Amino acid sequence: MGECQITNRLPIRNPIQTVGIIGSGPAGTTLASLLAMKGVEVTIFDDGRRPDLIVGESLIPAVVPVLRKLGLEERAAAICQVKPGVSFTFGVDEKVEFCFQSLAGSTVPTYAYNAPRPAFDRLFDARADELGAKRVRARAKIERVGGDGLRLAGETLAQAPWLGGRQPDLLVDSTGRSRLFARTMEIPSEVGPRKDVAYFAHYEGFVEEPPRGQVIIGRLAAGWGWRIPLRDCLSVGVVMNKEDAAQLGTTTEERLEAAISRDPVLAAAGKERRRITEIATYTNYQLVSDRGHGPGWVMTGDAFGFVDPMLSPGMFLALHSAELLIEHLDDLPAYSREMRTLIKAWMELIQYFYDGRIFAMYHSGMELERRLPNRIIQTLHRFFDRKIAAMASGASTTSRFGHGMLRIMSVPGSWRSDPAQLAIR
Ligand SMILES: Cc1cc2nc3c(=O)[nH]c(=O)nc-3n(C[C@H](O)[C@H](O)[C@H](O)COP(=O)(O)OP(=O)(O)OC[C@H]3O[C@@H](n4cnc5c(N)ncnc54)[C@H](O)[C@@H]3O)c2cc1C
Repeated sequence: MGECQITNRLPIRNPIQTVGIIGSGPAGTTLASLLAMKGVEVTIFDDGRRPDLIVGESLIPAVVPVLRKLGLEERAAAICQVKPGVSFTFGVDEKVEFCFQSLAGSTVPTYAYNAPRPAFDRLFDARADELGAKRVRARAKIERVGGDGLRLAGETLAQAPWLGGRQPDLLVDSTGRSRLFARTMEIPSEVGPRKDVAYFAHYEGFVEEPPRGQVIIGRLAAGWGWRIPLRDCLSVGVVMNKEDAAQLGTTTEERLEAAISRDPVLAAAGKERRRITEIATYTNYQLVSDRGHGPGWVMTGDAFGFVDPMLSPGMFLALHSAELLIEHLDDLPAYSREMRTLIKAWMELIQYFYDGRIFAMYHSGMELERRLPNRIIQTLHRFFDRKIAAMASGASTTSRFGHGMLRIMSVPGSWRSDPAQLAIR
């Protein structure tokens, strides 16, 4: 991953008194609330283009402390489904279960939530409004200033009369995968190996497996699928490369239907399925901006980098980027470094799931425990489980020990299972 070239402190007004945030997704509204709590005057510019169906429904436990910090957990709990963990399936008779209960005693709770996105996002909007953030309901335009600067275009600035014609001290790009600043500044990005497309919709009539709320990730002949239980329906999505998707049909309906009916696990669980929404299509390129800040501007959430839907780090990264930025408001290079380290750690972890190494390790561990059912092996197995769960929960994703342990344990030839047999194409 390219290192940020800017190391000097930036000429932004300190302390920062006014901030303009472009984009009212979870990254933008979390930042708006946290800044407003510190007495900073915040203006959110949002184009209101949020569809009825939004991906990002499966949350990880590390999101919960942020909800608490915002005073939102109770409201979230009223509309979300509690998520006890995640299971990975490989065909009809192979399953690896991760349970957040193993996180007891760590820095994050032993549960997460599955969130009905548009309603969940409205909680964040309402909280920012309650805390005094001001809003401009329009698509924001920005322009370059000199080689490295950015400012709001005159017509956009005029839409926030309370700013009195003065540019905010800090401009924040929270436009998600629109990546407004990176596109305007022509900032290159590091692109990951996967270039997938995802189709998803909400269903009724799927048979749901216990425990209630457990998210199920299933390996498909090509790509993978998710089943995310919400309170009143099931979110079902498939993720695969574009060539494989094209083989499934010409329309999105044909493709999603074919992916479900050709997979024995999804087809069996969904015999009585009824689709109750339109189908949403997302292309998800793994992509991280080479720069995350400049003089008086900074990026958060997906606008900084989009990792991958696997393991669901997106919402956590969006919310946590706001927390990190608050911590490093007077040192944007430090913020960018932390974000980059975090994104890189997630990308590395996710790769173990795509290439099958993590599941090969599990198989080998289970086999060892079966053959040598003694306390030492059982303790080691529990320790390994807990470490992986802590990394995938967001509690210790950047842990050097955790990544070192994964590297050592994934030395080729040390497993009884072939990772290639468990890899996701
Ligand atoms: C297929 C797929 C599945 C996913 N599944 C999960 C999951 O299960 N769990 C999870 O945690 N994450 C998941 N994610 C990722 C998650 O959806 C995102 O990481 C998260 O929504 C990012 O939030 P954000 O606030 O950065 O951006 P967004 O939520 O995209 O918000 C950006 C906002 O900016 C607005 N905007 C854009 N341009 C302008 C402009 N010029 N002026 C004004 N407003 C503007 C947009 O309308 C939008 O409201 C998934 C992503 C994909 C692609």
